[in-house]
Amino acid sequence: MTPIWKDIYDLLPSFRKETKVLLGNGLMTAFWVDLWFGPDTLADMFPALFSHTLRPNASVARVFSITTLQLSLRPRLTAAAAQELMELSALMAKCRMIPSLLLSGEATLFRSASSSSGCCTGIEEDCFHLFIACPRNRSFWAFIGIDVTSLPASLGTDQLWTESLLLENNPRVCSTVLTCVLWNIWKCRNAKIFRHEDETNLTISRRCSEDLSLWSNRCSSPVDRLKLETWSGFFPVYM
Ligand SMILES: [Zn+2]
Repeated sequence: MTPIWKDIYDLLPSFRKETKVLLGNGLMTAFWVDLWFGPDTLADMFPALFSHTLRPNASVARVFSITTLQLSLRPRLTAAAAQELMELSALMAKCRMIPSLLLSGEATLFRSASSSSGCCTGIEEDCFHLFIACPRNRSFWAFIGIDVTSLPASLGTDQLWTESLLLENNPRVCSTVLTCVLWNIWKCRNAKIFRHEDETNLTISRRCSEDLSLWSNRCSSPVDRLKLETWSGFFPVYM
């Protein structure tokens, strides 16, 4: 597992009310309501579409049992649900090609990240571009005052964790903050690609701040909690 998702999965049990799910072969994991794809359930990410399913507890294995997603939807989707169906299908497009990767949300997510419809036309959207080199995200890193311009393009996402980008000596806290930033860059990228929305740096920054504040509340270690609260204040929330 690449560290970003490993971290998210490691941190989820203490940060979220939901129980951590062991994926196994996908039979025991609920497609909509379990956490298997990222820090939010698909029911949370696609609420309109979710309200149209007749099988809210369908397993991941069932949904991927044939080539088209088995979502068991009511006929006549609302416009919002139809839009979400497009987004979800795009997000899941690579999953069913590689069933073994259903075992790890991170792998499927990064697979879909490298599909042809990326953030910048004509540029291969690898992890380095997606999180660091993309002009959209360079601007965000600059906005929060973190210098990424000297990072080499050969850097893999996992190596990001070994670069000391943040002045934070607690590795667990450092990794959480970095995860939070990358996660919100990822969300910004999805808003652009799937909803054609351009999020401002302030929007992304505000979300980072809110996420860290939320995560700190659910942190079991008082020291980590305090540090995450401090980091929450690091991200500008108004101009
Ligand atoms: Zn780009």
